[in-house]
Amino acid sequence: MSKAHRGSGIRKTPNSGRGTCPICKRTGIKLLYEQTVEGTKVNVCKTCDATIKNAAAKAAKSAKAAVAPAPAAE
Ligand SMILES: [Zn+2]
Repeated sequence: MSKAHRGSGIRKTPNSGRGTCPICKRTGIKLLYEQTVEGTKVNVCKTCDATIKNAAAKAAKSAKAAVAPAPAAE
């Protein structure tokens, strides 16, 4: 199987997978990462994909901490 985000695999996609990122508005950037933004599936750039994933991980971590708070030391 070909690499999902580089090489001949993305040549088949429209405009070689390039376009304007709906989040950071950069043009001529590869949009190969599917993300759900405000309930809509969109393809975003690598940077925005990482940003979204980091924000989700951070939110999950803080939610977990809120459910089970660490015992306070006395
Ligand atoms: Zn972006």
